[in-house]
Amino acid sequence: ISFLLRSTTDNKADSTVVSNVVTHADPIASKGFAVDSSTSPFKLFEFERRVPKADDVFIRIHYCGICHSDIHQAKNEWHNSRYPMIPGHEITGVVEQVGSSVKKFRVGDNVGIGCMVDSCLSCNSCKKDLEQHCPDTCYSYNSTELDKVTPTYGGYSNFITVKEHFVCKIPKNLPLDAAAPLLCAGITTYSPLRQYNVGKNTRLGVIGLGGLGHMAVKFGVAMGAHVTVISTSESKRDDATKLGAKSFLVSKDEEQLKSVKDSFDFILDSVSAPHDVAGMISLLKFNGVYCIVGAPPKPLEIPSILFITKRVIFTGSLIGGMKETQEMLDFCGKHGITCDIEKMEASPETLQVAYERTLKSDVKYRFVLDMLNSFK
Ligand code: NAP
Ligand code: ZN
Ligand code: ZN
Repeated sequence: ISFLLRSTTDNKADSTVVSNVVTHADPIASKGFAVDSSTSPFKLFEFERRVPKADDVFIRIHYCGICHSDIHQAKNEWHNSRYPMIPGHEITGVVEQVGSSVKKFRVGDNVGIGCMVDSCLSCNSCKKDLEQHCPDTCYSYNSTELDKVTPTYGGYSNFITVKEHFVCKIPKNLPLDAAAPLLCAGITTYSPLRQYNVGKNTRLGVIGLGGLGHMAVKFGVAMGAHVTVISTSESKRDDATKLGAKSFLVSKDEEQLKSVKDSFDFILDSVSAPHDVAGMISLLKFNGVYCIVGAPPKPLEIPSILFITKRVIFTGSLIGGMKETQEMLDFCGKHGITCDIEKMEASPETLQVAYERTLKSDVKYRFVLDMLNSFK
């Protein structure tokens, strides 16, 4: 284990000297895989990461999950894409250098970075640990730093420099590869379940058994809920059962849906493409909650009568704040929860295959890129 020696003669913020580890002094030459437009393939992209400032942590990226949001953004489906874009916001890695005021981390720590890399830290949302609702949130990619100019680049890359506040500790018992998707798929499903007190008496419906959906099942089961998976794919029935779901319904089968009408307390909709949300709302009990986390590009069409007659609450949820993300990771450490992954090295070719297969829901249940071995 490398130990940390602080130089006492040099008063520069990032004067950390570490045995066997090079201390970076200049902007750090970095590599990633980027797209140049909504239709272009991935290409190798060289750029620079900043040297850690006093409150920054410099991380060697080991793994990065492929979230469906990466695909929406790479393809400009949300109409806000900036190029060149290096996607990736399910990042795990190891700390290589820390700024002088960093308290939480030491060189060699296993860490994670999710969708955010900065925010104002002073607005009402930030003060309530809801940095994701800050008007100035800086996302990990397809975004800028707080200066509104410097582009951010995501985790399909070898290094990243991030403000300490936006870095999480990965519990020691969790492997860095299968933990990576916790940083988005994990927190995005954990947060709404916690917010609506999902627990022992909850009949929970999870729509879509993908990256987010399979984590929602694991969390729902760990929290004691009665979990039903509603999927388009009959072939996922056995997996749903293995994940701990008590029942499984095929959404295209009207008879199966009829059998669970008016039965759910809470539905989490994680579907990435346009689908029949109105039909799903009718599965809720009186006063039931429908929480949508999936973000298909097209607007929803829902008859108002569905809300009126059963006083249904329709809501959404956006990732989770930094405090809750750490809470989720600690919960995963305690319960031994990780993601089911398919690991691959990143290259323009493998990324294309991974995107195509994710679009076909042909992945169990998250692709994770081995960034450590992708630039050899
Ligand atoms: P994913 O792994 O591709 O899973 C999506 C699942 O949706 C698929 O596995 C499939 O499940 C189902 N599905 C796909 N096409 C469908 C269709 N036409 N009709 C019905 N069901 C369909 O995607 P993900 O990474 O979990 O992300 C899901 C969505 O959440 C994306 O839109 C993403 O952008 C969004 N997201 C939101 C947040 C947030 O903060 N709110 C965070 C992360 C991601 P079955 O095979 O079981 O039907
Ligand atoms: Zn994501
Ligand atoms: Zn703020």
